[in-house]
Amino acid sequence: MSVRLATLISAALALPAFAEVPIAQKDSKWYTDAEAVIAAREAIAPNTKRAKNVILFVADGNSLSTQYATRIWMGQKAGGLGDDFVLPQEKLPFVGLSKTYTSNGQTPDSAPTASALNTGIKSRNGTVNIDDAGDFDSCDAAATAGLTTFAEIVTDMGKSVGIVSTARLTHATPAAVFAKSAQRDWEDDSELPPDCAQKDIAAQMVDAADAGIIDLALGGGSRGFFPNGITDENGAAGRRLDRNLVEELKAKGWQYAWNRETTLAADTTKPILGLYGESHMNYEADRPETEPSLTDLTEVAIKSMQGNENGYYLMIEGGRVDHANHAGNMARAVTDGEAFALAIEKALTMVDTEETLVIVTADHGHGLEFNGYCGRGTPITGLCYDVADNGNEHAETFAQGLDGKPFTVAGYMNGPGSVMVGEEGANDWTGTRKVPTQEEATHIDYLQDALVPLPSESHSAVDVPIMAAGPWAHLLGGVVEQNVIFHVMLKAVSTE
Ligand SMILES: [Zn+2]
Repeated sequence: MSVRLATLISAALALPAFAEVPIAQKDSKWYTDAEAVIAAREAIAPNTKRAKNVILFVADGNSLSTQYATRIWMGQKAGGLGDDFVLPQEKLPFVGLSKTYTSNGQTPDSAPTASALNTGIKSRNGTVNIDDAGDFDSCDAAATAGLTTFAEIVTDMGKSVGIVSTARLTHATPAAVFAKSAQRDWEDDSELPPDCAQKDIAAQMVDAADAGIIDLALGGGSRGFFPNGITDENGAAGRRLDRNLVEELKAKGWQYAWNRETTLAADTTKPILGLYGESHMNYEADRPETEPSLTDLTEVAIKSMQGNENGYYLMIEGGRVDHANHAGNMARAVTDGEAFALAIEKALTMVDTEETLVIVTADHGHGLEFNGYCGRGTPITGLCYDVADNGNEHAETFAQGLDGKPFTVAGYMNGPGSVMVGEEGANDWTGTRKVPTQEEATHIDYLQDALVPLPSESHSAVDVPIMAAGPWAHLLGGVVEQNVIFHVMLKAVSTE
């Protein structure tokens, strides 16, 4: 041992075990609240029991920044400044980060990311549960490179499987629970190439129902299930060329629901198909009372799943956070984010996390960001107020750019809200920044400032959070590949 090392060790040993300096701030609420958090975290013990049930909540495109905005939005609606509000998913004890890139995409789409959650491996953009040995857009790939899904595995264990989504049931995220498709757009047979060896996604859902793999499906997209020339109870036109899949499922004992009333009245001891609209369901901000909320669907789904004493796998998707972000319209992204949060809150009142693994995550993020030194209490969807020098709430003056104009708290890197768009939407890229009033900026239809002009704002490649409670949820820590989430679900249901 060197003299220097020996000196260091003896110096360390001489340190007192406890600091005795008086702490001036020890009675601050910030300080005592933080002490309470430490005490609460010390009491969290890993649960290593076998999980009877798994609920996977996925909000499509719910980047950490979108979840942040939803937090502030809900906190401000509740009358606070917003920042200290805690979303239901933020109360779950275990958090990790999910790396969402795919086998060929630095930036992913929802098909391979949902596949990663349901199969435990990464795959190529645009494909649903297809291994890289099969080509994108190839009719043969599903037969030769189709992957085994978590739903198939737990069905073999005697569990029920349910899907809830505010997007079309044939859209990428719900499709990844039951389908194998070399092209995510092959949602119904009108979109499938002629003589294709694989079936369309809607037809695969009926096959999965026949095989006992899917026991409940509630969401949008009735057009993929009804034939061309038939309109459903909501007046939505079907577009299938071959079969009436709704009549087929009804003939096999499935109940069919088409609005809030028929969904809440459904017999939860039998399989349920709910179809609410031709394409995606409405954004929460536009949802008529006759359409079920995500919370309504979650409640019916869990009641239905709980009828199986062997347990269940339920995937619940807030499908339209993604679409509102694509539209550059953060107000609808946060109102759908709120609907997603309320559905989680409902689910947590209905299940016991001693036996149910609950995971909340996103498939990928969006290029939404928050800049500008805004004061607390600034409306999250509106213009940025300056930080006040004293007190806790914002100043009454707007923060300004060098052009002397105010700016929105949130902005997108690209999309339809581009500041480069010319007068009255002209595509001449001569635009200048808008000067809205606070009232205009906080309107539900307002598009946040964006930079690069694109018709649809794009996904982001940045990691998304994983929040979890229940058996083996403690394994969902650290920065992990997205496909690891499947392996935690598998370990949870199959542990001895
Ligand atoms: Zn998207």
